Amino acid sequence: MKFFVFATLLFASATVAAAAGPNWPQVEQHALDLLQRYVRIASVNPPADTRETAKLLQSELAEAGIEATLYQSGSDGKTNLIARLPGRDRTQRPLLLLNHMDVVPVDASRWKENPFGAEIKNGSLWGRGSLDMKSTGIMQLTGLILLKRLGIVPARDIVFVSTCDEETGGVMGAQWMIDHHWNEMNPEYVMDEGGVGSRDVYTSGKLVFGISVDDKQVLWLRLRATGVSGHGSQPNPDNANDILIRAIERAKDFPRSAKPNPIVTEMHDAVGTFASNKFMNAIQQNTISVTSLHSGVGEPPKANVIPSIAEATLDCRLLPGENFQEFVSEIKARINDPRVIVEQISRNPDDPPLSSTNTPLYKAIADSIRKENPDAAIMAIVVPFGTDASKFRMRGVAGYGIMPMIIDAATLATMHSDSEHIPVDQFKRGLHIYFDILRSDW
Ligand SMILES: [Zn+2]
Repeated sequence: MKFFVFATLLFASATVAAAAGPNWPQVEQHALDLLQRYVRIASVNPPADTRETAKLLQSELAEAGIEATLYQSGSDGKTNLIARLPGRDRTQRPLLLLNHMDVVPVDASRWKENPFGAEIKNGSLWGRGSLDMKSTGIMQLTGLILLKRLGIVPARDIVFVSTCDEETGGVMGAQWMIDHHWNEMNPEYVMDEGGVGSRDVYTSGKLVFGISVDDKQVLWLRLRATGVSGHGSQPNPDNANDILIRAIERAKDFPRSAKPNPIVTEMHDAVGTFASNKFMNAIQQNTISVTSLHSGVGEPPKANVIPSIAEATLDCRLLPGENFQEFVSEIKARINDPRVIVEQISRNPDDPPLSSTNTPLYKAIADSIRKENPDAAIMAIVVPFGTDASKFRMRGVAGYGIMPMIIDAATLATMHSDSEHIPVDQFKRGLHIYFDILRSDW
């Protein structure tokens, strides 16, 4: 009974505070400043030194009265952060807000802006990590801090985790946290990077928000052709380079997908005709990119020597539910040349089930997006790249990827490029959406 009175009081005060609502102009400006400071820390992976970024987020949380713990997962400053905000129903497993602090390297000579300047120009904030994924990290952080400051107790515990190592596969980041600190997380849901809103990425002329419910499977192969070396002046039919080129051509003539894929069918039902761009191309079929070629004798390779060995690597991405062993067998059968060895150089891909769209959290995400964007269509998608969410999906957690901003195809393509940026107005709207999701009932 005492508990009941206490809970009622708490709930009442939460309602009063919530009615007052955040001071949005102030919140937006603070979050934008914080994002600039965050992007200015060059948390490049490797080496994934995230001590400074972790301290920045930790001090923001501390100011709001939320204690965050830092864990060193490896040398060179690899640091992960975890914090928790208690919820109303503590018997329920938490919602995990997952974000990564590391960013991919830059070739500064290719950038027009300072890649770690976080300058605001032409309505956009420019810099490495602005899109992938420091902006979403700040939306999650801001949402959590607003709940705390306004005295809004979330439906269940929210755990906030910032990791140091997503961009090289997550071994010292999300995977390390799963292996060493699972009991501090043990979530039912995870929200991570993934889909965005767009008027041209998915289909042209219609606003669509994609919420990712799965990632494609990552499979890396090496082709190694062995032939007969000799003098370049006298071509021979067993030139390793010729053998490799033929093998690549045959491998790339692979089946795009063995069977109709349920998630692709659902996306078609939701938006009709897909737009034609590399993102949509990638999320509706299995793909192969040739990512490296290595051959020649001597360094630099001699132009008049036919080598006996030539190698290539293929980055293959398979739709959920596709069998990777069958895929590799198919590639081998197509190459059909005993002089070519096909070797798997990545670990076996994760293929978790699609996260259900029939959950209170998915509905809350969709509702909050619609409140800000009444004309938006919302669909579940698969993302072409790997995210840490799948490490949790493998453990039965429902994982949703959403960066709640409206981004055009050209801007989305700047992820990992030398002109990465986000529109500032969309970052600000994203803060509203994220806060609304976190305060909802799920
Ligand atoms: Zn990312």
